[in-house]
Amino acid sequence: MTLIGAFRQWCVQHRLKRYAIPDDLWANAIHALPFLRHWPPQRLQKLRDMAVLFLCEKNIVGAHGFQVHPFHRVVIAAQACVPILALGLRQYDDFKTVVLYPDEFISGVEWEDEFGVVHQDDEAMMGEAMAGGPIVLSWPDALDPTRGGAGEDVLPANVVIHEFVHKLDMRNGEANGFPVLPPSITPKRWHQALTSAYENFSARVAAGEETDIDCYAAESPPEFFAVISETFFVAPEVLESDYPEIAALLAAFYQYRP
Ligand SMILES: [Zn+2]
Repeated sequence: MTLIGAFRQWCVQHRLKRYAIPDDLWANAIHALPFLRHWPPQRLQKLRDMAVLFLCEKNIVGAHGFQVHPFHRVVIAAQACVPILALGLRQYDDFKTVVLYPDEFISGVEWEDEFGVVHQDDEAMMGEAMAGGPIVLSWPDALDPTRGGAGEDVLPANVVIHEFVHKLDMRNGEANGFPVLPPSITPKRWHQALTSAYENFSARVAAGEETDIDCYAAESPPEFFAVISETFFVAPEVLESDYPEIAALLAAFYQYRP
């Protein structure tokens, strides 16, 4: 190990000790996130360590009077670290801040259409990942992304994972469903598999089929990538049964199987 490598390692160990998440706080956070309850202890420990380092590096701030407490911070960090558990925290080094709202929020983002007319988004949102900026989340939706769903019809969802996957997607430009790929996946394989699954899924939704994957995935290729990633982590059996090839591809991309 080089001197710099050894120093980095020392910094990590120091942070893990100095800023450790207390046992009861971690237990409460895991209890609030049912999809993590069945993870093996070793992997949960890795997630806990990464959540500590995430919280050392990121600011989690409240908006519209929302008071951020340690429980909020840990619940956000634990979920945010799920997609990068094997890839590493560096994947998030292009932003510093997560903003929590007390409920759904209006983004107010302005965008220009093909005729040069500027529009402003005025839809209520649960989450938003801003290119070159923060991730914005509605706290109640970040805690329970299935709230408002109807009983048994609740779909596997996770708004925190969704927005952080958009951030991964934005590392090489605009979110387009084509993130920076590891050497084990050729761009051709990714493009073919994602495009064919996206087209198949969109056709199923257009035909009125009730899918087990959130139909919002049919919105666009980047939304497809974000939604199938949610499904991959929260309800892997659903993705495995509908699109096994995509489940295998995401396992290669995220470098582990939940
Ligand atoms: Zn999205």
